[in-house]
Formats: sequence, C-alpha cells, structure tokens
Amino acid sequence: MPEPIKVAKFGGSSVANADAMRRCARIIADDPERAVAVLSATSGTTNLLTLLPEKAEGNEREQIFRSIEENHESIADDLNVSEETRLAVRGYLSELREVATYGSLESLEVKDRICSFGELISTTLFTDLLNQEGVDAVWIDARMLIRTDAQFGSAEPDTEAIRHAVTAQLLPLIGDRRVVTQGFIGSEPEGRTTTLGRGGSDFTAALLAEALDTRVLEIWTDVDAIYTTDPRVVEQAQPITEITFDEAAELSVFGAKVLHPATLKPAIRKDIRVYVGSSIHPERPGTWIVQKSGQLPVIRAISLRRDQTLVTVHSLDMLHRHGFLAQLFRILADHRISVDLVTTSEVSVSLTIDTNHDGLRHRLSSGVIGELSEFADVEVEKGLVLIALVGNQLDRTAGISGQLFQLLDEINIRLICHGASTHNLCFLVEEARADEVVQKLHAHFIEREEALL
Ligand code: ASP
Ligand code: MG
Repeated sequence: MPEPIKVAKFGGSSVANADAMRRCARIIADDPERAVAVLSATSGTTNLLTLLPEKAEGNEREQIFRSIEENHESIADDLNVSEETRLAVRGYLSELREVATYGSLESLEVKDRICSFGELISTTLFTDLLNQEGVDAVWIDARMLIRTDAQFGSAEPDTEAIRHAVTAQLLPLIGDRRVVTQGFIGSEPEGRTTTLGRGGSDFTAALLAEALDTRVLEIWTDVDAIYTTDPRVVEQAQPITEITFDEAAELSVFGAKVLHPATLKPAIRKDIRVYVGSSIHPERPGTWIVQKSGQLPVIRAISLRRDQTLVTVHSLDMLHRHGFLAQLFRILADHRISVDLVTTSEVSVSLTIDTNHDGLRHRLSSGVIGELSEFADVEVEKGLVLIALVGNQLDRTAGISGQLFQLLDEINIRLICHGASTHNLCFLVEEARADEVVQKLHAHFIEREEALL
C-alpha cells in the first residue's frame, strides 16, 4: 500500500460530462497516493432525482427519466465505455424507473433510494474511464462502508461501524489499485439505502479519510480556492492559501458555500489536512484547511449571506421575568425555525432567520408571527444581508468595532454580534448597500498592506 494515502472527492460539476471526468481521471493518475476517489452525481442529476417524487404527472416524470438517461448515455458514448459498464448503467437506470414508478413517493426511504442512483451511475462510468486510462481501479458500493442510522434524508453516520467496514472491506482493496466509491449515500442497520443530506459527498469523503487515518483529504470542485470574499462582489478578492478549521467553519456557516460545514467534523477530530482545489485548473494553488496555521490574521475573510429576516420581539413583560425567552424559543422550535443570531435588551429580543428557502419563508408568515404577537409586539424586517468578518481574536482586538463604525458611518447597521465567537464579528445591513459595504471592508481590512491591525 502506498504510504501515505489520500482521499480525493470530486463534486458534481467536476464530473459533469466526459471531458470533466477525464480531467478528474488525470488528477487521480498523477498521484499514486490518491488511493480513494469519492464522487458526487453528475451535476444537476440529484436535483432532477429529487423532483421525481413531486412530479406525479406521468408526462413530466417521463421527461425527467429521459433527461437523466440521455445525459448518462451520452457520457457513456463519449467515454466509449465497455459493454459491461453500459449494462451496469442501464441496469441502474431501469431500476430507478421501477423504484420511482412503483415506490411510495412520499416515503423518505424511497426518496433516498431514488437519489442514490446519481452517485451509483457516475462512479460506474468513472471507474471504467480510469481503467481505460491505465489506472487500475475498482468500484465499491459506499453503502457497505458508510453505515448510518435510519433517519432517511439526513442520516447520522455511525463512525465505529464505518471504521469496521472500512478496515474489513475497503482497506484490503487498496494496494496498487485505486478505489472509486459514491459520496452522499449509506445504509442503515437493516441495509436499506440512506443519504447524508444534500451536499453530503464531502462528508462521506471526510468520514472515509477518518476511518482510513489519512493525513490528507482533497475536495476537487469548480472553484480555485476559498477566497477572501465573494469574487462576484469584490474584484480584488484573493485566494486564501491556508486557513484554519475554526475560520473555515465560520465561513461555511456564513455563506461561503464551498464546503458542507459538517465535512469539517471528522477532519477536525483527526487533524486531517483538507485541500480545496479546482479540477479545471488543478495547477493553481488552492486552499489548505488546517488545524494550526502559522499565520493568524485578525481578519482573514469577509462573507455575506443574503435573504435574512430580522424579527424583533418587544414586551415590557420581559422586565425581571423568567421564562420569556424560553417561551419565545419554544414557539420557534415548534415551527422548526432555526435562529442564527440573537441579541437581547431588557425588553426586546432581535433574532435573524435565514429565509433563503421557500419553506422557511412560508413557515415564518404562517402562524409563527401570530403566535408571537399574542404575548409581545413583533416587527419583521426582510431583505437584509448578514455580513461577517472572519478571522482570529476578533473579540480581543482593540479598535475593530471602532474602525467598522467609522467606515460605515452613513450605513444603517441593523444588528451587530460581537464577542460570541472569537472568530467572527457580524452584522446586518440592507440588501441595497450590502455589496458596497463588503467592498469597503475588503479594501480596508484585506487589500491594505499596512492594515491598521
Ligand atoms: N449529489 C448530492 C447532492 O447534489 C451529494 C453531493 O453532491 O454532495 O446533494
Ligand atoms: Mg457539493
């Protein structure tokens, strides 16, 4: 077995078509240490699969089947795969039709089975490609390795069981050969298919890296690196060469959608170095996410998250009373609303809710506000953007908030959270001014060589 080994994960856009897959195959071929490849479904496929249960009309459903079949048949043609691979892919496609036609489409269990075909097919095609390119590769069903509980739709992995399965089934395959497996899917104790939740392939890769005790996990994606801010907002955004897990976690939570935040958990537990790089430009430096970085700037990056709603609850009853906050949060919990930021004063509480998803928007408008209004005055402000400065010792660095307020002196800052985390300071502004605010902050805190800090 080559020592040390690496787990390399390729996201949906990295395996979107034959050419994209060829680039990934080259990345694997280039480094014998890349012993395990974890793949997402080809880009767009999981979205289509999740639509299947909603499209009760035969016609629309048929279109989705066709589109999935055509995409994958065309990749198989382009790659000129073997007859055996073609049959395996066709087998999955017809099984998919069967499950999605006769299964109970409201059941989360059936939805997970439907979703699993995306990854099962992409990995089957990729294994064939590697072998054509002279890289000896075997395919393995991730459901034998990623053992989970039975929470279909977002199953919880059982790390002990995963370690056993990896030691017994995966490790013996690694030698001169490479192993290709699926991200996102697993199985519960009775063997039924589960998924780790959308975007879960990164998590799979991290779990395998943990179980294999690798030192490195690579996430190959369509962005070159993690940037100091969104390059679509600030042209001068710079790639970050190295960032700590703590900082990266704040970034993923605060809207830099490069990584699934839970990915970091197994890597943090085992001090695995995580590399994020572009499969289109593998020669570019990318970003390393590490436990300890030699350089810990006060401000490493600035993130922004749109579509925030601010709810302010005001009541004189709060004064010297206990149980008010508990009551407030119980109502939110009953409606399954997750709160991101909270600030309180003697008689009011402000909290932010991410209304990026239609479901949440709906839940917020229906019922919750009414229930809260029964015991307090409620004000709702929409269309806000959450901006976060992410870095180190932000709570202990004198002058940060002073500079911030000075820079933004004619901007209405709606709410500010400082001190809850040493790695971030965040606040809300109106959507219309958000880009300008980020540009100003980036110019001041990141582009200036001789930053004031
Ligand atoms: N294919 C799954 C999704 O699109 C998992 C992943 O790509 O990470 O959510
Ligand atoms: Mg992803």
